[in-house]
Amino acid sequence: PGTGEPLLRVTGAVKRFSGLTALAGADLTLAAGEVLGLIGPNGSGKTTLVNCVSGALRIDEGEIRLRGRDVTRASRARRARSGIARTFQNLKLFGDLTVRENVLVGRNASPRGPSGGPSRDGGAAPAETPKDDVEGLLRDLRLEHVAREIVSTLSYGTQRRVEIARALAGNPRVLLLDEPAAGLNDGETAELKDLIHLIRTERGCGVLVIDHDMNLVLGISDRVQVLDEGTVIFEGEPREAFEQPRVVAAYLGA
Ligand code: ADP
Repeated sequence: PGTGEPLLRVTGAVKRFSGLTALAGADLTLAAGEVLGLIGPNGSGKTTLVNCVSGALRIDEGEIRLRGRDVTRASRARRARSGIARTFQNLKLFGDLTVRENVLVGRNASPRGPSGGPSRDGGAAPAETPKDDVEGLLRDLRLEHVAREIVSTLSYGTQRRVEIARALAGNPRVLLLDEPAAGLNDGETAELKDLIHLIRTERGCGVLVIDHDMNLVLGISDRVQVLDEGTVIFEGEPREAFEQPRVVAAYLGA
């Protein structure tokens, strides 16, 4: 990575769905160890932008660089290997496997690993990813005591932690969290805050968070970007976002 080059840089992203322009030239930067909150009213393009970064969708115009490397046209698998991991609004875990097995599956998405992404027959875990990493991850996410439990038998809040553990198991550089607090109670949301803090400080990941819980997003983010109709209308300090008349107007649908 060149000096001054952010971990992730999206420039002028345009994404159209038939007649509709979901992203109309959106920019985004994320640094290592930074938590960036992506906010904006419903339909403003947040999920689309995350999908374009993960590679689930391709942008029609613009550019996406990861550590200076152009990944605009890279497959989702290659982006995963390059260190982009994500969680989903709707959990995508293997419910009939144990917690540890789900996390082990995530190791195969490692930048140093042999396969592109989570797949339960992804072969043996890469020798380069020590087993200790998985144990450390289970400990960090307070999943040690349920490591042998079948995922579908666990509470929703615990399953969400398993999903984050699985995403982290591939040693990603960028972690995309799509609605991580959805369905969590207040206690679990508070735990999630601590967890995101840990991920950033201990693992040095750049974390991009989308969530409807504005207290959570404004509370944990170093910086926020506000999207409206597919463009960035504010970028800066979380506490300053809602001091902008334009941001308030966007949320009021004005
Ligand atoms: P947000 O996450 O901010 O709520 P989205 O990124 O989900 O916004 O959606 C942005 C716009 O793109 C919306 O108008 C939405 O209806 C539209 N959109 C999103 N995905 C699709 C799709 N697969 N096909 C057609 N339109 C879509």
